[in-house]
This record gives sequence, C-alpha cells and structure tokens, in this order.
Amino acid sequence: MAAARSDRAVYSFAAASAALPPEVIEEARDALRSWGQSGLSVASLPFTDPDFGRIHDDAESALRDLLSLPSDYHVLFLQGGASAHFSLVPLNLVGADEEAAYLVAGLWSARAAKEAGRVCRARTLPARGSGPDRLGLSPPVLDISDLRGCTYCHVTTNETADGIRLPDLPDVGIPLIADMTGNFLTERLAVSRYALIYASAQKNLGTAGLTLVIVRDDLLRRRRQQVPPPFDYTLQAAERSRVNTPPVMALYLAGLMLKWLKRQGGLAAAEVRARRRSGRIYDRIDSSDFYECPIPPALRSRVNVAFRLKTAALQRDFLAAARAAGLLHLEGHPAIGGLRASFYNGVPEEAVAKLATFMDEFAAGRQ
Ligand SMILES: *Cc1c(COP(=O)(O)O)cnc(C)c1O
Repeated sequence: MAAARSDRAVYSFAAASAALPPEVIEEARDALRSWGQSGLSVASLPFTDPDFGRIHDDAESALRDLLSLPSDYHVLFLQGGASAHFSLVPLNLVGADEEAAYLVAGLWSARAAKEAGRVCRARTLPARGSGPDRLGLSPPVLDISDLRGCTYCHVTTNETADGIRLPDLPDVGIPLIADMTGNFLTERLAVSRYALIYASAQKNLGTAGLTLVIVRDDLLRRRRQQVPPPFDYTLQAAERSRVNTPPVMALYLAGLMLKWLKRQGGLAAAEVRARRRSGRIYDRIDSSDFYECPIPPALRSRVNVAFRLKTAALQRDFLAAARAAGLLHLEGHPAIGGLRASFYNGVPEEAVAKLATFMDEFAAGRQ
C-alpha cells in the first residue's frame, strides 16, 4: 500500500509480510475499533460468539466462490505457517515408513522435503530445468515414472525466494499436494488437480498467523496419533477449525481480502494483473544490459521478480537509492542474494509504475 511518510508515498515490495490494499486497511481499522452490533473490537471477539461464526462463514464462502471449490474439499483455518505444515502434511497423511515424493525446484521446496524427511521417507526429485543447470532447460519438469511407490507428490507452485513459477504439471496419478503460499489466489486454479493445498496468509491473503489448508475429504482419517490436536486436519475438519482459539483477527483480514479479490474480478483478473505487473519489470530487465534475471522466461514467477546487478556495490547503491525514493524491501532472499520485487495481490499499480521508472532512471544514471 501507499503509506504516508512525511509528505510522500512509500511502497513495499516485501516478500512477506505483503502490502494490503488501502480499502482493506480502512475497513480493518474501523473494525478494530468497533465491530457489528456489540461495538467490541473485532480482535476481541470470542470464537464462540455468533459474530465470529459469521466472519468465518463469510470468509469460507468467499473462498469457495473464488475457487469454485468442489464440495468434497474442507477449508481449514489453522496456524503455524507453511513451515509448520512442512512436517504436519506428512504427519497427517502418511505413516513413518511410507514414502512421499518431493519435487524440488528451489529453496522452499527443498525445505519442505527436508522437514518431511524427518517424519517419513521423502523421495527428493530435482525438477528438470531447475537447480544450477536450469538455464536453457524448459518444461516438462517431472517424469511421473519417478513417483512409483509414493503415497503423494508434493510441489511448491511458486518458489518465492528464487523467483520461479513451477510450470503446470502432468497428471501425476497420485494425490498432488501443493505449498501455494507464494502464488495462491494470484491466478486461475484448477483445484480438483490437487488433493491438498496449503498457504500462509501473509503473502496474498492478509497477515501472518493464519495458514489455510484445503483438503479433499478422502485424505482425512490417516493421521498419526502424535499429531497435536490443533494441527490434526481430521479433527479440525470435524470441529470447523475451532479445536482451540482460531486466529480471529487474521481470519477477519483474510475475509476482507477475499471479498476484495471478488470485487476486483476474481482469479482471472488477478492473473491478468500479476502477469502485467511482473511483465512490466521483466521487460525493464530484459531490455537492458544493466539488470539481469537469472530465471529463464518459461520458469519466471509472476509474483516474485528476482534480478541482480553486476556487482554487490551496485546492488547496495540501488537499494539505498530505492529506499530514498520510497521503494522499500527490494532485497533478495538472504539465502539467494541479489534483488527481488514482490507483487502480491495487495501491491497497488502505482507501486509498479514507480519501480519501473526508478529502474530506468537508476540505470541511465550509472551507464
Ligand atoms: C513464505 C513461504 C513459506 C514460509 O511461510 P511461513 O509462514 O514463514 O512459514 C513457505 N513456502 C513458500 C512457498 C513461501 O513463499
């Protein structure tokens, strides 16, 4: 969002927590003061209150609507972040001696595979066209014969740290599980291809504290005994995400984001926006020798544009000049380095325009 700092706007391109649309912030500000008939702050609603029930129902029905979610999928509003669900997905779905396949194409999928390996057998499949030799290679990324004997196949649809969007996969023939934290609700989605989808909310769906899990009914009832009740997908589905106190405020904000996305034209419109915004920055990069993007076009993320300059000193100058111009959080992921601009759902159009102009001017001044 554009925030007032002294007399000019500042824009955040952070990979998380992401910018929220100004309309959502306005609504949330009022609700934080006083919500509904009671006049209490929305943050103070007991989850047994019918008012919270309405917030929950509204958020769930907006989500079902946006995704055209088939009725055999449960929507769980949980906590822990995607990182906790790296372990919770296998703990809920497979026995310790079962094997699950993990398609690894970047930092987050590698982390998911590592955590899964501590609670089940995890077969790591390097995505073809990823890793150090990914340059020049293109999809398909997966040979499905490599999945034989595995209970499910896990993918990370958007590698937020690397700036990669996983190309569409073939039908894998076993349940497909996706960490969609990076690009959830930024493009059209054929949900029925997936058996389970999870996403932290702080990128495209509001603020941290909420992790969404969408799970098909036939995957429930497989969990191990030691799964803590708040993270037991089967129990949470039966109790409508109220085994313990749900993240009331984060769920309320997610509901506002979902309704906002519907007003903006739903997922087809979100996809047009994401393609246009990232495309505008990739154009700047590709049309100059000054900026470079390490990811080949077929694999480029539409929400996280990773790029770099020729020297570390130049990158430091770029970041300092950007900050002075009100363009914040353009650092790359610490494990990857370089620069990165994230364009999640809440990032306004004018932020992208400002960044594009800034990139042109910075390059012109240094060449
Ligand atoms: C940000 C991110 C995560 C980590 O989310 P947390 O809420 O910090 O656990 C996991 N996976 C992907 C793809 C991400 O973009």
